[in-house]
Amino acid sequence: MSFRLDGKNALVTGGSRGIGRAVALGLAQEGCNVVACYRADKEAAGRLESDLAATPGRHSVVQADVSRPEDVNALIDECRGTLGSLDVVVHNAGAISHVPFADLELDEWHRILDTNLTGMYLVVRGALPLMSEGGSVIAIGSKAAMVGVPLRTHYTASKAGELGLARSLSKELGPRGIRINVIAPGIINTDAVTNLSPEHAQRYRTMTALGRLGEPEEVADAVLFLSSDRSRYMTGETIHVDGGI
Ligand code: NDP
Repeated sequence: MSFRLDGKNALVTGGSRGIGRAVALGLAQEGCNVVACYRADKEAAGRLESDLAATPGRHSVVQADVSRPEDVNALIDECRGTLGSLDVVVHNAGAISHVPFADLELDEWHRILDTNLTGMYLVVRGALPLMSEGGSVIAIGSKAAMVGVPLRTHYTASKAGELGLARSLSKELGPRGIRINVIAPGIINTDAVTNLSPEHAQRYRTMTALGRLGEPEEVADAVLFLSSDRSRYMTGETIHVDGGI
């Protein structure tokens, strides 16, 4: 499958591991110049940097915590300096934890909301002045926001908030020719899932129609579709990439 995106400029938050890494590499392989950010894991960021360097285009990987306005400003400055403008913005950076609601302290509520939802607000609002007509904004939400999951009230609230933000913003950005959509993954084979017990992972597998977990590249393929003109009449929409869970 190929969605040529030659010469387009893309920003990917949380690009150093998991889904974001597959998205950053997928966009670069289709011809994009890519700026990606990470929060703390320098080793993973270094791996992404060298893999991107082996792909044609102008790429850079920078440290920026999307929950911190000053970091997001610096990230947008990096996009302006390295790329000049943006055609594709992928808000993928996300945080999760598993806490019973009764034990959910305000600090932890804020950590998750600030990364997932306020991070989307900061990144998209910061990126908009650089975005061209025909640009595409993509947020990585979660299937969990649609169905609810115990111990994840803060996480699902943040992901449901991403849907609302995208829906309303699609109406504001439509006249500028900018689209905004959400991808809602099911359970995808990233570090969080690798750490599950074999029984837990097996239970998740049997919950899907396809009988297996998803791969980061399978979410990235949906991002490539939404980044390309093949999805030119889609905005304010949510695509589920969940193996039929
Ligand atoms: P990972 O934990 O594997 O990777 C997260 C990435 O985001 C890392 O690059 C991490 O950098 C970065 N990141 C985390 N917090 C911040 C922050 N505050 N600022 C900047 N970067 C940050 O996550 P996944 O690949 O599993 O998930 C990616 C997205 O997909 C998330 O939004 C998640 O909610 C969503 N999702 C994932 C599912 C899954 O099954 N994996 C299912 C449904 C949705 P560092 O390592 O440096 O912290």
